[in-house]
Amino acid sequence: MTSQDRLPQTRHLVTEIPGPKSMAAMARRKEAVSGGLGMAIPVIVSRAHDAIIEDIDGNRIIDLGAGIGVVTVGNSAPRVVKAVQEAVEKFTHTNFTTAPYLGYIEVCEALNRLTPGKFAKKSILQNSGAEAVENAIKIARHYTKRPAVVVFEHAYHGRTNLTMALTAKNLPYKDGFGPFANEIYRMPMPYSYRWLGNPDTIAQDALDMVIHKIEKEVGAHNVAAILIEPVVGEGGFIVPPVGFMPGLQKFATENKIVFIADEVQSGFARTGKMFAVEHEGMEPDMIVSAKGIAGGLPLAAVTARAEIMDSSHVGGLGGTYGGNPIACAAALAVIEMIEEEKLVERAAHVGDILFAALNALKVKYPIIGEVRGRGAMVAIELVHAGTKDPNPEAMAKVIKYCQSKGVLILTAGTYGNVIRFLPPVVITDELLKDALGVLAEGFASL
Ligand SMILES: *Cc1c(COP(=O)(O)O)cnc(C)c1O
Repeated sequence: MTSQDRLPQTRHLVTEIPGPKSMAAMARRKEAVSGGLGMAIPVIVSRAHDAIIEDIDGNRIIDLGAGIGVVTVGNSAPRVVKAVQEAVEKFTHTNFTTAPYLGYIEVCEALNRLTPGKFAKKSILQNSGAEAVENAIKIARHYTKRPAVVVFEHAYHGRTNLTMALTAKNLPYKDGFGPFANEIYRMPMPYSYRWLGNPDTIAQDALDMVIHKIEKEVGAHNVAAILIEPVVGEGGFIVPPVGFMPGLQKFATENKIVFIADEVQSGFARTGKMFAVEHEGMEPDMIVSAKGIAGGLPLAAVTARAEIMDSSHVGGLGGTYGGNPIACAAALAVIEMIEEEKLVERAAHVGDILFAALNALKVKYPIIGEVRGRGAMVAIELVHAGTKDPNPEAMAKVIKYCQSKGVLILTAGTYGNVIRFLPPVVITDELLKDALGVLAEGFASL
């Protein structure tokens, strides 16, 4: 593919959204596909390059969601496409535990090098974030010989049975899908914007509360793992107050508990660091990666201290497709791109543009209660002016307005009132500013 074949990085509408071809295909979707699946924008994709999605009616839409933070390096990034094409011609699958291949080993080497922590590390690869989180818990339990897992309010960890139990929010993720796995203990998350205590001492107060609850209600010696998202993703881009997570990890270490960072959404250059825990100089015992790791191919990983990863018996870990060779080739291309094209710095730059524009909007529109996040992972929480009452109605109107103008934006939040921005970090400044201009119009239209 030559560069001329790539979609221009400009917004361009030729029909209403959705156009007639998308509408016709949506009727087929309704007939053929389970009604249990949601949909952010009712268009059918024909192509997508970098931060532009083209639909089958020929509209070019700006993508501020990156397929839920997956195509960080851009959709169909040329280096990823090339790596995938070369890999797929060699072999499509052997199963790594049947006949191993170098790509898998190289992705593990890269993860062991890129994750924070100077200690010896090892990794395993899986297909999805949920599968990797399940493996993280499984490994931590086997290593510690303890059953309990500590998780937090507003957390999202996946949709499998164990990860539904780890996830906080009932609707839409859990309702009616139980019974759930046991030995999961949920602790308060210091959500600064909605914290009722003293804002100046929030990190220490929340830490004291969580440690007290673990000691009194669970018993630290029963806890295998503390699992936390360094930036809470689906929960609405809540950033735990500085000091809270390091304090938790210190408690974990003192009590021989495995401290696990779920970096599925926040990792891989998203927040202006390779991993979000680096903002506080942390070195977790274990890190779970997925979403941004392979430019859109399904891949996930668990990386941890070598002694933890080696505690399982041979054959105790595995899976048919985990670390598929094509996904591994894509991941290696993504890692090269992040390092050579300085995409960590690029994410910080995208974040600067987002924060400046969104803070300016907040001054103008009192329904924007808070602007928060890290790097290219930024959100606004919408409330009724002068209160902190959630305002999902305004959110829905703004999102709908943006869609009608060809800007795809995702939502989040326990109260369904958060607009989140996590574009491909390769988005051009011009395209991002065009999208933010449409967002401003959306607020003006309310
Ligand atoms: C998306 C996500 C998961 C689940 O990943 P899947 O690939 O959808 O299974 C787990 N944890 C976090 C923090 C996520 O954002």
